[in-house]
Amino acid sequence: MFDVLIIGLGSAGYTAAIYTARYKLKTYLVGAEEGGMGNTAAEVGNWPGNIEIKGPDLMENFKKHALSFGDLVTYKISFVKEVALIDGGFRLTLGSGETVDGRTVIFTTGSVKRKLGIPGEKEFSGKGVTYCATCDAFFYRGKTVAVIGGGDSAVEGAAIAAQVAKTVYLIHRRKDLRAEPYWIDQVKSRLNIKFVLERNVVQVLGDQKVNAVKLDKPFEGSDELKLDGVFIEIGSDPAVELPQKLVCELDKMGFLKVDAGQGTNVPGVFAAGDLTSGSNHFAQFATAAGEGSVAANSVFNYLQGNGHKGGMA
Ligand code: NAP
Repeated sequence: MFDVLIIGLGSAGYTAAIYTARYKLKTYLVGAEEGGMGNTAAEVGNWPGNIEIKGPDLMENFKKHALSFGDLVTYKISFVKEVALIDGGFRLTLGSGETVDGRTVIFTTGSVKRKLGIPGEKEFSGKGVTYCATCDAFFYRGKTVAVIGGGDSAVEGAAIAAQVAKTVYLIHRRKDLRAEPYWIDQVKSRLNIKFVLERNVVQVLGDQKVNAVKLDKPFEGSDELKLDGVFIEIGSDPAVELPQKLVCELDKMGFLKVDAGQGTNVPGVFAAGDLTSGSNHFAQFATAAGEGSVAANSVFNYLQGNGHKGGMA
């Protein structure tokens, strides 16, 4: 039996594993996709110690660090389909049917990109509609694209897309963007970004692939924007499906409720990163890593029988 099962291969999961390994806990680190949301960041300018680093490079550094502890960390790339309470701990069932047991669990499953739910979105998904502007913008060199949303992901995505695309429509339902001022300055300085504000996209249009979006109100005289690609960046929902199987409590916004030690209401179950109610819902590399380290410390104390007792106070 492992001391700790860490589910999720993003900033929080890798950091938790670095700490549990240094506590000499027998760690099982598993997730379906390496790097998580961190891999989608084109430029990271707020990871302390690196003035600028690409998201995939940062995540590769995290991974190398987590895997530098020899036998203490068992690493597996796999979908986890089940988690259940067993005598003395927890059992994971992987996609292959293989099972793994551990005395404690840290969920670091992150979040899942939101969908708009409009006609044409599903039909053209992968045919011009995608959910990661920074990952896919480079396929649209010299083309016209739209990024939908007004948060950090959309605004950063528009700035990155504008480096290669001919024209970028940044479509947001409000008058004001709510991204970091750094990214707002970046998009405002790009002459090839057109701000389509106070507008909603109501339909994605196309034939074999996307060729336009329909707006709820006309922009520059038309309610259709002709384009080649659409990046939907309207935020993410916490990936709480697995912890809910253990009857972990959620907060009012649907995030996994954690205490100051990253403990959930279920003894022995901890969580870190974008799925939790921690860090004031501020989803960043730094907060995910911070929560991962706190969760690992709580696991250590829990297994020692002192400090965090597991379950919320
Ligand atoms: P977000 O902050 O939740 O922003 C989502 C945006 O999409 C908002 O502008 C929202 O509009 C809009 N939106 C939501 N539902 C919509 C709908 N149905 N139709 C049209 N528009 C809709 O999500 P995010 O930008 O993905 O960021 C998520 C987290 O990751 C944040 O904590 C963010 O700070 C972090 N992040 C950070 C960085 C960075 O630090 N550089 C980069 C990427 C992400 P309203 O404004 O009207 O609510």
